[in-house]
Amino acid sequence: MKNNHTPTRTGRLTRWIAGAAIGLMALVVGAPASMAQGAESVEGQTYVIGTDTTFAPFEFRQNGELTGIDMDILHAIAEDEGFKVEVRSLGFSAALAALSANQVDGVIAGMSITDERKQIYDFSEPYFESGVQMAVAKDDEDIKGYEDLKGKTVVAKTGSEGETYAKSIAKQYDFTVKSLDQSATMYESVKAGSAVAVFDDYPVLAYGIAQGNGLKTVTDKVPGGSYGFAVNKGQNTALLAAFNDGLAELKANGEYQQILDKYLADPTVNTPGNFFDLAVKSFPALMTGLGNTLGVTAISFAIAMALGLLFGFFKISGNIVLRGIATTFVNIFRGTPLLLWAFMFYFGLPQLTGWDISVWTAGILTLSLNAGAYVAEIVRGGIQSVDPGQLEAARSLGLGYGKSMQKVVIPQAFKMMTPSLINQLIISLKDSSLLLAIGFAELLYQGQQIYAANFRVTETLLIVGVIYFIAIMALTKLANYADKRFNK
Ligand code: GLN
Repeated sequence: MKNNHTPTRTGRLTRWIAGAAIGLMALVVGAPASMAQGAESVEGQTYVIGTDTTFAPFEFRQNGELTGIDMDILHAIAEDEGFKVEVRSLGFSAALAALSANQVDGVIAGMSITDERKQIYDFSEPYFESGVQMAVAKDDEDIKGYEDLKGKTVVAKTGSEGETYAKSIAKQYDFTVKSLDQSATMYESVKAGSAVAVFDDYPVLAYGIAQGNGLKTVTDKVPGGSYGFAVNKGQNTALLAAFNDGLAELKANGEYQQILDKYLADPTVNTPGNFFDLAVKSFPALMTGLGNTLGVTAISFAIAMALGLLFGFFKISGNIVLRGIATTFVNIFRGTPLLLWAFMFYFGLPQLTGWDISVWTAGILTLSLNAGAYVAEIVRGGIQSVDPGQLEAARSLGLGYGKSMQKVVIPQAFKMMTPSLINQLIISLKDSSLLLAIGFAELLYQGQQIYAANFRVTETLLIVGVIYFIAIMALTKLANYADKRFNK
């Protein structure tokens, strides 16, 4: 992505407004992702490439890393041709939307080359044979063909060939097509019974079934639609040419076949066996997730305590301005969903300001401001619950207001606040799971990545649940112990 402009920051209001306007325009019309066009050389360029979230064996995550046939082919070609890639795992329809909006330079996502798509995209030479097939739950004895779908619901991926095909025969066989964004959710719907069948690409179904995703195929595959790498029509021609050149090279030197073999020769090599095996295999990634969960909670809660103390005191102060500030703060962050702020800080703020905001920063801002609002209320309530006679008594003994608060009121208030603060800490820990929506690699996010690749949804969620439970139990015990020791 050439010309990645960083807005100058003078801090002046006009600049800010101009930045905001540009940001909004970019949102609406899509910022041009690359200026690398025409006969330019690809050497040394960095291209942004969009892909699906999970489409194993073409793209999926293993130990947090995006891997798969598409990824290996792309990286091998990039290395061969001397360009760099920045891969964005967006989801299939989102990747196509990003390409159309020029937010990415190309898409590699097990994307079928079709006549309709050729109207708007230019495709590379095909690199993999594919086609659509229907699968049902492994123990389903009723659905043996399209005729049995009468009156039932099937699932397919939004914007995919599977969806197009299912819709093309839906009237004839009288069934309903429900579109979902992710392969793992589609398969889960079929296993859970909310849909009777899924229409997906047969190499992907075959790979999943070999991994024990709980499905089976019952109909013949509908051949057609080989996979290709796509760019916008007439754009990034150099990139497309380099892709084709590199692909031919990989095929000639045997590397292409090696990549296929790595994933297809034995799709079960990475498959966990029983539940215990799954727990052991997923443990490292889940522990990284737990570390991030605890880390973001601890930092956010420390900030929330500081904010809460400040605004809690503001709330009981005699100064109307301070009270107003505190009330506004509490009302805003208690009165709006946490997830909204996560999106706002992660997606909105960078667009408005041009700042680089990491998921950690966005996550900490979100959690600490949210918890800070609740802590402020806990602090206010705690102080107000101390009998006013205590303050009067301290004052009549000759202590000043500050000293009376510090020595008499606050210690008593703190004792009363502790159970509520422990509660808030636990709530914040659980709420941190919402940050998965912005891609923060916390515990539940890691779980999702694991089952997206191995399709063991229920068991993985169970393991994640147990880890949360143990962590929260340990934290509660620790906090109660500290409470007993220090609040005597
Ligand atoms: N091959 C299918 C298509 O191009 C599905 C791709 C995918 O789900 N990633 O529509």
